[in-house]
Amino acid sequence: MPSPLTFHALETAVAEGDIDTVLVCFTDMQGRLMGKRFHAANFIEHGHKETHCCNYLLATDQEMATPDGYAATSWAQGYGDYVMQPDLSTLRPVPWLEGTAMVLCDVLDHHTHKPVSHDPRAILKAQVARAEAMGLTPMMASELEFFLFEKGFDEIRKGGFRDLKPFSGYNQDYHILQTTKEEDVMRPIRNHLFAAGIPVENTKGEAETGQEELNIRYADALSCADHHTIAKHAVKEIAWQAGRAVTFLPKWRADKVGSSSHLHQSLWKGDTPVFRDPDGPHGMSATMQSFMAGQLKYAADLTFFLAPYVNSYKRFMKGTFAPTKAAWSVDNRTAGFRVCGDGTPAVRVECRIGGSDLNPYLAQAALLAAGLAGIEENLPLPSETAGDVYDAKEAPEIPQTLRAAIETLRGSAMLKAALGTDVVAHYTRCAEVEQEAFDAAVTDWEIARGFERA
Ligand code: ADP
Repeated sequence: MPSPLTFHALETAVAEGDIDTVLVCFTDMQGRLMGKRFHAANFIEHGHKETHCCNYLLATDQEMATPDGYAATSWAQGYGDYVMQPDLSTLRPVPWLEGTAMVLCDVLDHHTHKPVSHDPRAILKAQVARAEAMGLTPMMASELEFFLFEKGFDEIRKGGFRDLKPFSGYNQDYHILQTTKEEDVMRPIRNHLFAAGIPVENTKGEAETGQEELNIRYADALSCADHHTIAKHAVKEIAWQAGRAVTFLPKWRADKVGSSSHLHQSLWKGDTPVFRDPDGPHGMSATMQSFMAGQLKYAADLTFFLAPYVNSYKRFMKGTFAPTKAAWSVDNRTAGFRVCGDGTPAVRVECRIGGSDLNPYLAQAALLAAGLAGIEENLPLPSETAGDVYDAKEAPEIPQTLRAAIETLRGSAMLKAALGTDVVAHYTRCAEVEQEAFDAAVTDWEIARGFERA
């Protein structure tokens, strides 16, 4: 889909008084949009070339803390600036906000103007460039699952995140009746995103009370990550406008299924899908088999990028449609890697490990790194795990805790070679910070269990 707003069209819209604000944003390590709200006149005059932000924004956590241990940025280095350089091909209207447009930025070093290596968008761009150098164009789709609640964000926060009531009273998987009742939120999500140039396919009820899914048509990997990030942001803002909350927490209650972000992946040469070979098993080419073999071999290395928080690991539970094993299977929702569209030109691999909290730039980059390594190593595809993969004894487990995933990330020679040792060290620190924060917390569970009986 072409950019729905050229710079020239923005100038006209501003001159005619239709747009007065431009959101100038980049995506942080947590996958959130960070940036500034520009007066449109200033954006047209100056801001479209570059603006600046504090460099702690790519070394903070969800609380905006300034943890130590990052080589790239610290109190000792004075927390200087990064350059935010708008990528004008991402300029688009924001139809759910009055008079507003948005642009995504690349993050550059303030002095050298080179890409900051741990900027999530730069990390994905580097892996896409690596694929392109092999003559391959990665195409991806990410599914966004989330829960919709009766109350709004502020009310829920002021209530201490208790008494969380999902919007519906029953499992609404594919339900048309229940989802009709949610159209005050879901219809503007579809229509506003579509008008913002995001190729929304559909929304549907998911397999829990109050659970929703948003599907966006597959695109080149960078556009897919851009679409995902903007869509996730829009879902929160549009729900907030309707007085409701949504959550992308992968597991907000132990007794409910979690929320995922499945990633569909294929490789192309021009208009030709290179995963397709009518004579191969299930219509899969040798390239697809090696690509998937790489992701299976390195699944533990990259799990952090699919499951970046302590909570992410609570989702991996037998019988919930969230996988527990790094195995592949044809059209089988119990496997970590599901072959979809077998025997057709749309044959692709859906990675089902990622939770709704993943950062799509990092998740796609890590999956690409593993898949391309599989092609370079000419890896053979292990045998398919058929049936209920949860019970497949021979299939390797996905790391079951953040602590385990930190160790596999820290030791990953494949990721160090693909992303750079500095990038792996940066994200290992990011993961440690999360684990340390959790280890320092005293949870409700500990109090309820031990208060009287300890
Ligand atoms: P599901 O059974 O998971 O709902 P769908 O047919 O709805 O499967 O497709 C899921 C996603 O896969 C959609 O977002 C679609 O755009 C994407 N998709 C379709 N073909 C390809 C492809 N060749 N490569 C990558 N993604 C694709």
